Amino acid sequence: MSDLAPTSERPGLHVSKPSPSAPATASVVCQCGASATATGDAQVKALVDGYTASHGPAHQRTGR
Ligand SMILES: [Zn+2]
Repeated sequence: MSDLAPTSERPGLHVSKPSPSAPATASVVCQCGASATATGDAQVKALVDGYTASHGPAHQRTGR
């Protein structure tokens, strides 16, 4: 499934939860160069919230 992960050429957010009993994992790559990964439902939620608040679409809102 690594072909779905974001890269510096295709920035974005990818969340994976392979099974209900497995912890979610997420990876993000922003067009500004920031990248991060998280494992665990709470950590993934925090990562997604932080990314959407400060990166990704937030750059477009602020014109950068
Ligand atoms: Zn960014």
